[in-house]
Amino acid sequence: MIEVTTTFDRMWADLEPLGRDAATGGYRRFAWTPTDHDLREWFAAECAARGLDLVEDRAGNQWAWWGDPDTTPGVVIGSHLDSVPDGGAFDGPLGVVSALATVDALREAGVQPDVPLGVVNFVDEEGARFGIACAGSRIITGVLDSDRARALTDADGVSMAEAWRSAGRDPETLGRDDETVRRVGRFVELHVEQGKALALAPDGGDDLTDPSRAVAIGTDIWPHGRWRVDIPGEANHAGTTRIADRRDAMIGLADVIQAARSYAVGLGCVATVGKVDVVPGGVNAIPSHVTAWLDARGSSEHVVRSLVEAVSSEVARAGATTTEESWTPTTTFDARLVERLHGILPEAPLLGTGAGHDAGILATHGVPSAMLFVRNPTGVSHSPSESASTEDCHHGVTALTAVVTELCTGKDPESMSVAR
Ligand SMILES: [Zn+2]
Repeated sequence: MIEVTTTFDRMWADLEPLGRDAATGGYRRFAWTPTDHDLREWFAAECAARGLDLVEDRAGNQWAWWGDPDTTPGVVIGSHLDSVPDGGAFDGPLGVVSALATVDALREAGVQPDVPLGVVNFVDEEGARFGIACAGSRIITGVLDSDRARALTDADGVSMAEAWRSAGRDPETLGRDDETVRRVGRFVELHVEQGKALALAPDGGDDLTDPSRAVAIGTDIWPHGRWRVDIPGEANHAGTTRIADRRDAMIGLADVIQAARSYAVGLGCVATVGKVDVVPGGVNAIPSHVTAWLDARGSSEHVVRSLVEAVSSEVARAGATTTEESWTPTTTFDARLVERLHGILPEAPLLGTGAGHDAGILATHGVPSAMLFVRNPTGVSHSPSESASTEDCHHGVTALTAVVTELCTGKDPESMSVAR
């Protein structure tokens, strides 16, 4: 019999080199690139090795089924394999690898699910290439219109439709997919924690050894959005133009950044300018236009809206315009499912999060969804410093296995010996 920890570790080692940038140590796994293709092939091969039936939906998400989800909606686990630029190893892949290891754990324990069990690899969760996070789940639920999706462009001006063609797919098939969503009875996404709540002991110090704090149950996702700020200026010579005569778009960017920071502090939320585009982009040219992207999140919609309104009205005086690119209201995970998870994992803390996830998109669409978070000692995410100990990853598989056993069979997971 194969040890589940062995299969987890083997899969983790397989994935480690894929899309890793040698210089930064971070991952560059972007949708519909050759790296993405390799990751999708890896997932398909792992599913085939387990005899799971792999189907792709109209957004390109991969679903691997144990049992027939057309007879009755199934329980789905999994996450995504793509990354942000120079992302960490765990955000996404931990959920996919843990889901596959859970299938192994169930089989090792002799569990035969009474309802179909699915493992999903959502495509383009980070939105790193085309700017819309959770594109795969937004497309199948109809939240992201298919025409708009096809027209989205990456930094090189390549549209999603063109990227699909380059990946050997027909972009005309892209779109809302009710049949796929109908197959999902419940969705539980395991994910690395993207903050430090689990790593901090109640007294405020680090506690990385308490096994009861290795895994948390997600309760809700903060409201969050992305805004594009266009700041006008006037191109001119960096050496011969007097300071008094300049209209420097970069000065406007500084105002955006400062305003976002000070309103975030004042309102008790978070705001980030993490991406800018400068025109013409010459060292010796005064910028004629800057486009900046503002990401804002908080515990309430009111707080986030207040911040964005305050920033945009402040910078509007210099002629800047603010355009909303995406908005996700507060997502509350299915209360009954969360309660059930808490019954299965009574020691696991309950945790809200400021990060968006496909589980949130499905929950908003009415699919009962919930999440499990695995402790992250650094609390850092979207960076190579993101971390989780191997032991905690194994705790995550054990927790997910207990959850799936209960949800798929109704049997008491306490009586089963899948934990190790
Ligand atoms: Zn993620």
